[in-house]
Amino acid sequence: MQSLNLKFEAMKKQVLISGASFAGLTLAYWLNKFGYGVTVVELGKGLRTSGSPIDVRGEALDIAKEMGIYDQIKAGEFVHRDEIVNAQDETLATFAINTLEEYLGDIEIHRGDLVKIIYDTLPTDEIEIIFNNSISALIQHEDDVEVSFEKGESKSYDFVFGADGTHSAVRKLAFGPEDQFKKFLGVYFAFAKADQIETGRPKSTGIVYRELGKQAVIYQFKEGANAILLFRAPKLEWNYRDLNQQKQILNDYFAGNTNWKLPEILDAMLSANDLYFDEACQIHMPSWTKGRVALIGDAAYAPSFFTGMGTSLAMQGAALLAKALHANADYHIAFEKYNEGFRPFVEQTQAKVTYGLTIQLPETEEQLQASITALSN
Ligand SMILES: Cc1cc2nc3c(=O)[nH]c(=O)nc-3n(C[C@H](O)[C@H](O)[C@H](O)COP(=O)(O)OP(=O)(O)OC[C@H]3O[C@@H](n4cnc5c(N)ncnc54)[C@H](O)[C@@H]3O)c2cc1C
Repeated sequence: MQSLNLKFEAMKKQVLISGASFAGLTLAYWLNKFGYGVTVVELGKGLRTSGSPIDVRGEALDIAKEMGIYDQIKAGEFVHRDEIVNAQDETLATFAINTLEEYLGDIEIHRGDLVKIIYDTLPTDEIEIIFNNSISALIQHEDDVEVSFEKGESKSYDFVFGADGTHSAVRKLAFGPEDQFKKFLGVYFAFAKADQIETGRPKSTGIVYRELGKQAVIYQFKEGANAILLFRAPKLEWNYRDLNQQKQILNDYFAGNTNWKLPEILDAMLSANDLYFDEACQIHMPSWTKGRVALIGDAAYAPSFFTGMGTSLAMQGAALLAKALHANADYHIAFEKYNEGFRPFVEQTQAKVTYGLTIQLPETEEQLQASITALSN
């Protein structure tokens, strides 16, 4: 019996997924379900659970139902009230984003909670997850892809999937340099824990402060708080692995600004070990597949957080690609269906960025006032 099992395992198509977040874990779930041998390689030492709350919307909720995790996501929903404040910390508008008509039915949840919920649905005795490693080279052959890892060894897989986010290593190796596909939105953002900042507001409140070209937010949870800074800027020289340089950039843009809680937020960011700093951008590609390599989620079509759709696109794209592979013995057809079938929705979603950008980072006094009055009751 055991030898039969081993034979069956050996016959399975073997796939490697780079990135253990929404796109990668959702793809792992579905491909394992469809009988593939799945390995996931993640750069982080463990699951990366930081980040501000994210939205799960539309078809991604149906996928969550199919995966049997909808109720857990709903149970973990981050329900909050929100305020827009002025430089003197006076409340200008109070609202509850979860109850606004355009968001009805959506679920907002802490990023880390959703990552863990999806991870926990995976049968870990069937799926291999390798942390603290990364693909360093890919060579495509007709029947397989030869992969080298940063930390030793090489192995061949039937398919390789890049689910490794906006700055995808797989995209770089298989499709070319990031700049070819990246559309910079003229904005940088930073995120850090800010438990120590006193706001005088109850728990589960989001507090938003806006001035021209800048937005600061504090999200207070039941336990702890996060702070986010967003600012418009021209293209800057920066390295995503150089934390000190990122802190210097924040200092350049916010030091000396005494409005609202900006000094305390800046302090929290400058002393953070877990600062998350990035440029806001979108990824646009003519094709998300090349040979036996395919990209999903932010690696392929990052819409930017201004659309609130990054997580939903990642889950939808992953499920769609897995189902296309399951339904078509010829992977060329499956990849074509994925490329063609998902593109209209991706393009429509990416086009929504301008609205979010103007609301959150107004450039004129009129836009600033409109962004506040839109939420006044
Ligand atoms: C730590 C973190 C914090 C975030 N915070 C926010 C936030 O506050 N607000 C927001 O809107 N979005 C945030 N995002 C982005 C958000 O999760 C995605 O936009 C979106 O949900 C799409 O998911 P994804 O799975 O395609 O990409 P991501 O969620 O970005 O996941 C990519 C995964 O790939 C891993 N990875 C990266 N490079 C490699 C590599 N070379 N080899 C192997 N693995 C690699 C990453 O560690 C990560 O686990 C954050 C992402 C991360 C990783």
